[in-house]
Amino acid sequence: MTLPIFLVGARGCGKTTVGRALALAQGCQFIDTDFWLQETAQQTIADIVAHDGWEAFRARETDALKAVTAPARVIATGGGIILSEYNRHFMREKGIVVYLCAPVAVLADRLEAFPEEGQRPTLTGKPISEEVSEVLALRDALYREAAHHVVNAAQLPDQVVSDIEAALQLARA
Ligand code: ADP
Ligand code: MG
Repeated sequence: MTLPIFLVGARGCGKTTVGRALALAQGCQFIDTDFWLQETAQQTIADIVAHDGWEAFRARETDALKAVTAPARVIATGGGIILSEYNRHFMREKGIVVYLCAPVAVLADRLEAFPEEGQRPTLTGKPISEEVSEVLALRDALYREAAHHVVNAAQLPDQVVSDIEAALQLARA
């Protein structure tokens, strides 16, 4: 595998979990744009948004995406990365984009079971299933537009990894 693989999808779809497992199986590097951004900025995403606003955060997210893009990498992106047309085109041109698609109920269950406190402020201040439903309604078309492949992310992580490898015709490292 030489082209970078970008994993896109809603919060809780498994970009970080599946990304790590895919990178391990492929013997390549794993990078998470959210972690990279927070380490580089020495601030949490919640702090960046609170101090500088969403627009400034989105600009830094694009910088992070460009900085981490390199061959032989699995790149887990932030859930809102596809909001920017620039980011969608950038990922499609520079690598292979995989949408980890899961129904609202699955996403809401995971986020309720494992709230990533401090990781990401709630987008609307509403109950989790309502928020997930609204955000997905707005973003699903953009995830699909950005993606070369759509994979069922409601399965166990190992199965999601296998499906990505099959879709991309990747051999195990
Ligand atoms: P994302 O990075 O897309 O926001 P994460 O990888 O952080 O999602 O996963 C969110 C939560 O859901 C984590 O607690 C993780 O353990 C769990 N999870 C992720 N993928 C799966 C899966 N395929 N099956 C079951 N649980 C999962
Ligand atoms: Mg993540």
